[in-house]
Amino acid sequence: MDYDTYGSTAVELAIELANTDREDPEWARAFLGSHDEWFTPGTSFELSPGEAHRAAVAADLIRAVALAESQPDVLTRLNELLALARPRPYATDHDGPLHLHYARPDAPALEQLTTTVAMGLSQVVVQHGWQRLGVCSAEGCDDVYVDTSRNASRRYCSNTCASRSTVAAYRARQKA
Ligand SMILES: [Zn+2]
Ligand SMILES: [Zn+2]
Repeated sequence: MDYDTYGSTAVELAIELANTDREDPEWARAFLGSHDEWFTPGTSFELSPGEAHRAAVAADLIRAVALAESQPDVLTRLNELLALARPRPYATDHDGPLHLHYARPDAPALEQLTTTVAMGLSQVVVQHGWQRLGVCSAEGCDDVYVDTSRNASRRYCSNTCASRSTVAAYRARQKA
């Protein structure tokens, strides 16, 4: 599986958005600021309350796609997410190799965000199957992930959760 294309790395932005803690009311601006490499330099990260709400809706929809257990559910949720996108393909070589961006470069931050995550997620679902998305099996973690392993065997969001679960299973066996 080739995850080297922009479409595939854009799915990582989608996963990070879905897993972002939203307790802080300023979470959306903070998320944009810590992922600024995804946005046209100079884009304002000030969001109106309505825009911040739409960022949260996008995050929930990404999670809903990852949690969906049937293709009809995936399609419904993916199309709701795509409805938030305003794709206008744009070729660029800003970081070296020529590649495509999905949003117009002068779009507001929210539009760049929703377009990039919706297109990135859809591309992976269409090319590699919705079964590639999942939710972490570790106790106390509900982060979503995209499985880029060769044999689609991933069950955890991170190495941290994987080793934590291995240790927990080992201790449980020792007790038994
Ligand atoms: Zn780029
Ligand atoms: Zn986890």
